[in-house]
Amino acid sequence: MPQIARAQASSNTSSNTSSNGSVSGIAPMPADGKKTLVLLGTGWGTTTILKALDAERFNVVVVSPRNYFLFTPLLPSCTVGTTESRSIMEPIRHIVGRRGKDIRYCEAECTDIDMGRKELVLQRQGDPSGPSGSVRTTRIGYDQLVVGVGATYNTFGTPGVQQWGLFLKEMGDATKIRQRLKDTIEKASFGDLSDAELDRLLHVVVVGGGPTGVEFAGELHDLVAEDLNKWVPGLSRRFRITLVEAQPHILPSFDERLVFYTQRVFKKNGIALRTGTSVKEVTEKTIIMEGTDSTMSEMPYGLLVWSAGIRAREFAHTLRSKVPDVQTSRRGLIIDDYLRVKGADDIWALGDCAVSKNPPLAQVASQQGKWLAKAFNELARDAKVTDPFHQIDGKIKPFEYSSNGALAYIGGEKAIAQLPLFNTSITIGGPFTSLFWKAYCLWELSSVRSSLSVATDWAKRAMFGRTMSVD
Ligand SMILES: Cc1cc2nc3c(=O)[nH]c(=O)nc-3n(C[C@H](O)[C@H](O)[C@H](O)COP(=O)(O)OP(=O)(O)OC[C@H]3O[C@@H](n4cnc5c(N)ncnc54)[C@H](O)[C@@H]3O)c2cc1C
Repeated sequence: MPQIARAQASSNTSSNTSSNGSVSGIAPMPADGKKTLVLLGTGWGTTTILKALDAERFNVVVVSPRNYFLFTPLLPSCTVGTTESRSIMEPIRHIVGRRGKDIRYCEAECTDIDMGRKELVLQRQGDPSGPSGSVRTTRIGYDQLVVGVGATYNTFGTPGVQQWGLFLKEMGDATKIRQRLKDTIEKASFGDLSDAELDRLLHVVVVGGGPTGVEFAGELHDLVAEDLNKWVPGLSRRFRITLVEAQPHILPSFDERLVFYTQRVFKKNGIALRTGTSVKEVTEKTIIMEGTDSTMSEMPYGLLVWSAGIRAREFAHTLRSKVPDVQTSRRGLIIDDYLRVKGADDIWALGDCAVSKNPPLAQVASQQGKWLAKAFNELARDAKVTDPFHQIDGKIKPFEYSSNGALAYIGGEKAIAQLPLFNTSITIGGPFTSLFWKAYCLWELSSVRSSLSVATDWAKRAMFGRTMSVD
């Protein structure tokens, strides 16, 4: 692990310890008078800062347990092998390498903060070659801190979900779903199961009718219709997909014409919709649900994918607990119009971990990242002012989110789009929109390498079909 420390506040003595007690020194950051800017996370928000920041003006340290940027809009397509995992993972070392020598990366999780000393506690889990369960800990200082740790899935405390459900938030989740789908297909093909057991096993239930749940259901339909149909036609006919949503409609953030269009496409594709239905409990083989009229029902299932919402990550709660009077939202870190964490000096937050009037979206996080990088560049440029970061008010215009619209793939080579046009928005859906969605993804991917890899994956899928092989 790279050894890191801060430059300016280097009066803080820092140390590295491991859980078995060994202590090692930390190589100091260059004492060049530059401010140390620590970025927590390698997600949409922080990687956008990295790309737009004038890295010459700061000592930048990136801290994240995930050593790559993940292009989440294509995550559902990785679950069924339409897109390969590595194609949408951009190594952080590539991004850092392109930005120059003043940026360091540390693969670790930030677990605590001392706001008085301006220090962070970083932990790195289990070195495979070390004693089992060994955790290495280090402390680093910061002058300015940007928290972009994102959010995690939310089970809302529903019994059984954590134990029996699968999630779709990180690449590890997509790989697990792919593995379980492959296992399900092979188990069902073995030929020793009763009809009732086969029907249960081949029933995939998706909980959550937001874009992630809808896109996963669409991708799964494509796998069944285009590939399973050829590999195991008998099984593909038995395969069922059900989407469960507590609200009366799916896709609440989309125009109702697109909602109805998606519902029609789902009906044609055989995806069953159970709207106005809340999941109350999950057991190994059944889902217990309640309708709006309070009637309870049970549904046998083979695989459950839970994409019903998000909640704040542990570090956001740790930071909140340092200023409990001001940070009163359990959803995450309350920020002001300049993305400053309320009640905390020199700490900024963006993306899904920040609570503001904006929705938890990649486009919000990346616009915030761009705005913050620009603000930092401008503030650091002003050498005349001794403390430029405390003089942002009035100097820089507050952050304002401008929506670029919403897109979702719904399966069967169809997508929906809601695009802003002057003071209104246009809504389109169908095969042409699917081409537009694909072009948008290729354009938005973080590098030429990723765009080429994804385009190649799609071409291979069109020529040879999907690959479901998993180790
Ligand atoms: C399947 C899926 C599809 C999506 N599709 C879209 C879409 O089409 N359009 C759209 O606008 N949005 C989409 N989103 C939402 C979008 O991905 C999120 O809004 C976005 O990722 C938020 O960015 P972020 O920078 O806040 O956090 P993230 O991108 O989640 O990154 C968080 C980073 O913080 C790191 N981290 C976590 N804890 C710590 C810690 N303690 N210390 C240091 N680092 C830490 C993580 O490892 C990660 O690198 C989708 C989300 C999912 C799950």
